Amino acid sequence: MVKEVNIIGAGLAGSEACYQLLKRGYKVNLFEMKPNKFSAAHKNKNFAELVCSNSLKSNDVTSACGLLKEELRMLDSLVIKVADRVSVPAGSALAVDREMFSQQITDELKSYPNLNVVNTEVESFDLTKPTIVATGPLTSDSLASFLKTVFNDDYLYFFDAIAPIVSYDGIDFDSAFVADRYDKGTGDYINCPMNKEEYEIFYNELVKAESVQLKDFENSKVFEGCMPVEVLAKRGIDALRFGPLKPVGLTDPKTGRYPYACVQLRRETNNLDMFNMVGFQTNLTFKEQDRVFKLIPALKNAEFLRFGVMHRNTFINAPTILNRYFQVKAYPNVFVAGQLSGVEGYVESIAGGLLCAINIDKHLNNLSMVDFTNQTMIGALSNYIECANPKHFQPMASNMGILNGVGERIKDKKEKYKKLSDIALNKMKEIIEENSIN
Ligand SMILES: Cc1cc2nc3c(=O)[nH]c(=O)nc-3n(C[C@H](O)[C@H](O)[C@H](O)COP(=O)(O)OP(=O)(O)OC[C@H]3O[C@@H](n4cnc5c(N)ncnc54)[C@H](O)[C@@H]3O)c2cc1C
Repeated sequence: MVKEVNIIGAGLAGSEACYQLLKRGYKVNLFEMKPNKFSAAHKNKNFAELVCSNSLKSNDVTSACGLLKEELRMLDSLVIKVADRVSVPAGSALAVDREMFSQQITDELKSYPNLNVVNTEVESFDLTKPTIVATGPLTSDSLASFLKTVFNDDYLYFFDAIAPIVSYDGIDFDSAFVADRYDKGTGDYINCPMNKEEYEIFYNELVKAESVQLKDFENSKVFEGCMPVEVLAKRGIDALRFGPLKPVGLTDPKTGRYPYACVQLRRETNNLDMFNMVGFQTNLTFKEQDRVFKLIPALKNAEFLRFGVMHRNTFINAPTILNRYFQVKAYPNVFVAGQLSGVEGYVESIAGGLLCAINIDKHLNNLSMVDFTNQTMIGALSNYIECANPKHFQPMASNMGILNGVGERIKDKKEKYKKLSDIALNKMKEIIEENSIN
């Protein structure tokens, strides 16, 4: 008997998952609300619409997103295959003709007789039936309400207010020091102190820095619960010193005193590689974040692994709800793919769709699901989904900091990334062979 899977959402993740299942002989019921209903960002009736930029970022395999794309090529990703086919000149980046991109993916999927497209808005679904939910950051309100009741109110978020993440290597320890407030903890925070003069320079630049214009549907009201650092700063010169830059309880070993103001960095994963700027959710342009946040003395050479962003984004608290296979722990026949699962970005969403399809196939055949390990970029993203701190969960884009380290400290960044990339691609080859993927 032909096995059947329901996929909800024919975006980047849903289209990739659909192809992977069709070619494995499944009957796929693909539920897509377009063209009957469009989100505020979607305009094109076809599948796999790129809602904003036409770039899928770098193709260089020593960059995080380039590596992820190469892994996807090895796994026979339809979406990346079409992107390569319809690429337009963009230096080392993979940019595409967006119309051709969506059209060719739609045509290819519709050429399979075992595809059943259902153009309707899904408002709820049977949690016992094999299903991949891939409705993205702008999941329709009715389905979001259903998911809220299924996953619990506290575990579904509707907006993103992300603080930047910096690498450990870029922190200047001539200025920074490790300490927990009032020594309550196990040395979990890195502190970036500022004296009065340094604080005033930073403050004056922060309040006049340029922000990103929010779209109409990204109504500022949604963000009230999580105020951007630059908005808080505008409430008065000391607002930050009584908020996220509060220095009390943090004795600087160099002066024996509390600093005038102090930025705290919190570990983002168990690795010593990535640190979140606590309370620094921001809507500044990336260029301004780079300029203004480097005025904090300990961050003068900062390497930003991720900049802060704010936009409407529906996503689940993945470490609470999913396992590393993107499978819902409480409902094993349901998988969540794409941006809704807590990954961030076009290519990451495609990767999520591909991984869900491979694993739902294994699951339905009573086989072990595939662990891509955190040596590959796709596996490192799954590891993040499973192991990130659920209390502060924020979506994650591919970056070199989430990969399992090279086992030694390599100072030269180029050399380190080349080594991480080689390890990842070799590991991917091994995993594909061992698990007979393709
Ligand atoms: C405004 C905006 C701009 C972005 N720009 C970029 C960018 O430039 N670069 C980048 O890397 N990432 C960007 N992202 C983030 C993200 O990578 C993309 O949103 C990406 O398309 C996510 O892929 P997805 O498959 O998870 O969701 P989508 O590609 O959005 O696909 C979801 C699909 O589900 C459908 N759907 C929703 N609800 C229902 C329902 N109830 N029933 C049936 N169908 C439904 C939608 O119509 C849509 O086709 C942006 C996000 C937003 C919101």
